[in-house]
Amino acid sequence: MRIVFIGPPGAGKGTQAVRLAERFGLFHLSTGEVLRQARAAGDEIGKLAGSYLDQGHLVPDDFVLRVVSERLEDRECLAECLFDGFPRTLRQAEKFDQLLAERGAPLQAAVELIVPEEELIRRLSSRGRADDTAETIRERLRLYEELTVPMSDYYQETGVLQRVDAVGDPDEVFARVCGALGRSPDAEDDV
Ligand code: AMP
Repeated sequence: MRIVFIGPPGAGKGTQAVRLAERFGLFHLSTGEVLRQARAAGDEIGKLAGSYLDQGHLVPDDFVLRVVSERLEDRECLAECLFDGFPRTLRQAEKFDQLLAERGAPLQAAVELIVPEEELIRRLSSRGRADDTAETIRERLRLYEELTVPMSDYYQETGVLQRVDAVGDPDEVFARVCGALGRSPDAEDDV
């Protein structure tokens, strides 16, 4: 199963992605997490990504695509993976589809978490992560509208998009995500 997880900052993407990966035994590839770890380690990728991360800007497409295509060389990751925070732009999505097609491993679903903007701002302001200042929050929400919304429209056209209401208790949201994938949230229900 290959799934893309889409959602604005504060939509609960990280929490839901971890649960989903655990429930279905998927690799959880969070590009934001890979980039943050690289920055903490001070390696080449981290140095290049650092200034973009600090300003709440997206890292250039080619750079992120390089990080992801390296991971796709791992056959197990390619077979069962949940992509969290990638792709983020229409160009990344198109290139990603090409990378997957070349490997005979098409995407099964793109799950988009939907949360109203005022709720996102409320959640992000109380999160306290280093890159969650008022200024970077506004910038990331603006970028989401500008770059990621055309991408979710693209996934709608290719027929893989599942929009999920992500307001409410995390258990309820998880059940909705599983339902959108045609699966049960409970492992006991598996045959
Ligand atoms: P996230 O943890 O997904 O919110 O990502 C944190 C930061 O990492 C973002 O604000 C971007 O600077 C960078 N980033 C993560 N994934 C991508 C991506 N697919 N394209 C560009 N930048 C990304």
